[in-house]
Amino acid sequence: MTDDGTLLEGKKGLVFGIANQRSYAYYITKKILEAGGEPHFSHLPGEKMERRLVDATSDLGLEDPWMEPCDVSEDEHLDNVFDRYADEIGELDFVVHSVAFADRDYLKDGNFWETPREAWTEALEISAYSLVAMAQRAAPLMDGNGSIVSMTYYGGEKVVPGYNIMGIAKAALEHSTRYLAADLGEKGVRVNTISGGPLKTAAAMAVGGIREMFDIQEERAPLGRNIEGDEVGDTVAFLLSDRASAITGETVHVDAGFSVTGM
Ligand code: NAD
Repeated sequence: MTDDGTLLEGKKGLVFGIANQRSYAYYITKKILEAGGEPHFSHLPGEKMERRLVDATSDLGLEDPWMEPCDVSEDEHLDNVFDRYADEIGELDFVVHSVAFADRDYLKDGNFWETPREAWTEALEISAYSLVAMAQRAAPLMDGNGSIVSMTYYGGEKVVPGYNIMGIAKAALEHSTRYLAADLGEKGVRVNTISGGPLKTAAAMAVGGIREMFDIQEERAPLGRNIEGDEVGDTVAFLLSDRASAITGETVHVDAGFSVTGM
């Protein structure tokens, strides 16, 4: 996408989910910056995660970015991020939720039926409830015009071998997006999710069968290829901007058309 660097001019917000330069959130941040927006960050607690975020953002030309650690399954951590953001930055125009986790022992082709209660609860809490928890803290800071975007995958709509419990979490995330959009519309807050094609990230590599997904995507997608992280980044930047002012509650597929095919 070409834009003149003003799409997100004057817009400030929070990005959750940069683990390294391969993360979807890295590409999203790159495109927010190119569009003139001002991203601030949260990362999983721990020095290693902090260092990785510093490396990834310095690669994007950011020196000394604002960041706060947060395990999204902890209410206190989420409170800290949003309270500190409100005190130190103030205005909140956007939130990017690019976070997911499931126990990789249950991300194997054919073992969904063996999912234990704890693995289910953990995956749903970290990967889906966290969006609701963020929206609760973000909406009051958004001052009548805000945009929240999360990341989902086709395995939340259809059975994708090995995606298993993560597919259940994505189904919950996608439908939470609709309910949140319905509740928060009157506050001027839009909530959307992007269904991105497979990308070689740390989270993706935990899914059994991911390698086949890249081949099948290339073979079946109408555009005959896999997607680039930048293409998701561009779409997120658009959804965060006022040009998407009438779009809310949507699952937007950035998957080279893969999801419209049947055979
Ligand atoms: P990634 O591993 O780079 O990012 C996942 C992020 O989640 C990491 O930054 C990790 O630290 C964070 N995280 C995990 N548990 C957390 C917790 N308890 N608290 C806070 N943060 C936590 O992988 P990614 O592929 O960039 O994943 C980002 C999003 O994109 C996820 O929602 C993923 O499901 C989604 N997605 C990925 C693909 C793909 O093929 N890579 C496709 C579609 C959607």
